[in-house]
Amino acid sequence: MKVQSFTYNPFMTNCYVCHDQGEAVIIDPSCAADNEKQEVAKFLEKENLTVVHLLLTHAHIDHIFGCSFFEDRFDDVFKMHDAAVPFIERSVDQATAFGVQIEPPSVPTSFLAEGDTVSFGSVTLDVLHTPGHSPDSICFVDMESQQAITGDVLFQDSIGRTQGLPQTSMPQLMASIRDKVLPLGDDVTIYPGHGPETTIGRERRQNPFLNDS
Ligand SMILES: [Zn+2]
Ligand SMILES: [Zn+2]
Repeated sequence: MKVQSFTYNPFMTNCYVCHDQGEAVIIDPSCAADNEKQEVAKFLEKENLTVVHLLLTHAHIDHIFGCSFFEDRFDDVFKMHDAAVPFIERSVDQATAFGVQIEPPSVPTSFLAEGDTVSFGSVTLDVLHTPGHSPDSICFVDMESQQAITGDVLFQDSIGRTQGLPQTSMPQLMASIRDKVLPLGDDVTIYPGHGPETTIGRERRQNPFLNDS
């Protein structure tokens, strides 16, 4: 699986295009401005990629700005955890609260939960439910290539925020990291929602929030 990362919008949120054999998934379309959306569209065109899934690690406003842009271009591709529905339904309110604008996404009709898989090219992504930062947080894992897209759960030297956001839980977040993410193994590269890629091993050893893991 090849992973192309982009960083967009005032929140500096990562958008990932994962691809294999001409098929692609877009995870967290954070592109907000026209030039950001066009940059992703041009990358897809240049690499000759067909988008087969548009996925969310969770539906916080900074991760969903580009949903409607890609929904208009690709049919029936949009999927997320069903706990994301209230966040999508309130996307305009979420945007207003942060002083930004959004073309509201539609609410998907198919959902992803723990144990589901998402396939494209020769890749099969496993879905892990990792709530705590948000009730709808999910990670997408390709054990074959030892890579995972993990959203706002675990960052280089940090973890997802659990203050000032609805339905967060620090104990739940720590349990998600301890029971779901760290067991993937030290060699797995993780691509977080913010900041650079890192590895499970690096974070297990050096992340100050995981001292007692
Ligand atoms: Zn978030
Ligand atoms: Zn975020």
